[in-house]
Amino acid sequence: MKQESFDLVVIGGGPGGYVAALRAAQLGLDAAVIDERDTFGGTCLNVGCIPSKSLLESSHRFVEARDGLKDHGVIASKIDLNLTAMQRRKKRIVARVTKGVAALLYRAKAKTFNGRATITGPGKVSVSGKKGDFELAAKHVIIATGSVSASLPGVEFDGDRIGTSAEALAYGEVPKHLVVIGAGAIGLELGSVWSRLGAKVTVLEYLDRILPGMDLETAQETQKVLEQQGLVIELGVRVTGVKTTKTGCSVKAEDRAALRCSHVLVAVGRKPFTEGLGLESVDIEPDERGRIPVNDHFATATSGFYAIGDVIRGPMLAHKASEEGVACVEQIVSGYGHVNYEAIPNIVYTWPEVAGVGKTEEELKEAGVPFRKGTFPFLANGRAQVLGDTVGQVKVLAHEKTDRVLGVHIIGPQAGDLIAEAAVAIEFGASAEDLARACHAHPTLAESVKEAALAVDGRALHF
Ligand code: NAD
Repeated sequence: MKQESFDLVVIGGGPGGYVAALRAAQLGLDAAVIDERDTFGGTCLNVGCIPSKSLLESSHRFVEARDGLKDHGVIASKIDLNLTAMQRRKKRIVARVTKGVAALLYRAKAKTFNGRATITGPGKVSVSGKKGDFELAAKHVIIATGSVSASLPGVEFDGDRIGTSAEALAYGEVPKHLVVIGAGAIGLELGSVWSRLGAKVTVLEYLDRILPGMDLETAQETQKVLEQQGLVIELGVRVTGVKTTKTGCSVKAEDRAALRCSHVLVAVGRKPFTEGLGLESVDIEPDERGRIPVNDHFATATSGFYAIGDVIRGPMLAHKASEEGVACVEQIVSGYGHVNYEAIPNIVYTWPEVAGVGKTEEELKEAGVPFRKGTFPFLANGRAQVLGDTVGQVKVLAHEKTDRVLGVHIIGPQAGDLIAEAAVAIEFGASAEDLARACHAHPTLAESVKEAALAVDGRALHF
């Protein structure tokens, strides 16, 4: 077995792990990153964020071309779907971005290993891959192994018709009737893709609302819009079993007759991935939800071992993992490093997009924080009119006394990009007045953020 030693070994090459390795290299550490996939970028780049956004973009353009062009005076006589080409484009994008990550790591002189990593003892990680077996010694080890799709008892995955997001990203034909279990980001994004491409889509959600954790008013508006687009969303339905039948699949839920369909997407959350990692060899014990316990500096209870991203507490988001990767390495090197969990945006890439940062109205009410609320509809925004995307609104929540921005929630065109301004405002401790006073170019969608901030004080100019 070949032996090598490093200042830092990162297990997992997703947005948490590869970013940690890049930052470590910037700070002069001799760093290595290991991933069991042949390519770097983790779930996000390989089978998550990037491929799903590719299909969301393509399917949106399909619908636009079919239904949206006439209004512009553009007559396209026949719009056809070439799903094979759409899937090929997705694969090309994934290949490009994952190669990009490999190039970044190469340029940074971070050593990469493709193989299965196992912790074998204090400061020791073994790697077993196509290029042989290695024994790595490390002063510091960051565990960034991410998460895997959660399952439900009674669900018989068949790797084809009954599957998780991995299968739903790769269907070779448009399902006749797709039943999505779970109305979180994955369920609604992939449900939207296949609905746009012609599938009948039924979303079954256990709770009495969609998008748990996001602002309720924004989530309710999202549900209305998605239903108008053709998705059937049923709330308060607890799925208890799924199996294949001769002709398709059958979904069993509490107190209901079985629902027959052609395909099932199980999107009921994700769970930390630590299986076979060898945590026991260094006395790291996951908590009751499978997460690795860490302190504020991302250190586990075992000296020299750290953990970041989906495998620890907090939202399972790529950008949160990246922030933690940077902060963790900075902690190791300098003793300082910080993630502001109040300023982590959350985006759902449906159309319109849904985005939020900071506290929701419900969280503020529950914590007894007095706040004022300003909203502004995209209907009153000139750029939104020009785009033909007038659905939705911006909502700014500010402290009643200090006017500090506590939360911003947007449903509307490019909400995912618009939310960046709100995240910066929260990061800088800005007031709604600060947001309102900043000059926003005209005509832009971002003017709606300014107007919502003005509305906090009852001063919106265009509504
Ligand atoms: P989620 O936790 O966001 O949503 C899962 C939903 O399934 C919940 O609403 C839950 O109530 C429901 N559910 C659970 N058991 C059920 C049952 N038996 N019957 C019916 N419904 C049931 O999970 P997800 O959508 O699978 O996403 C997983 C993770 O990945 C999340 O943390 C999410 O934030 C992240 N993610 C983010 C993005 C994004 O940022 N755009 C995209 C994809 C995934």
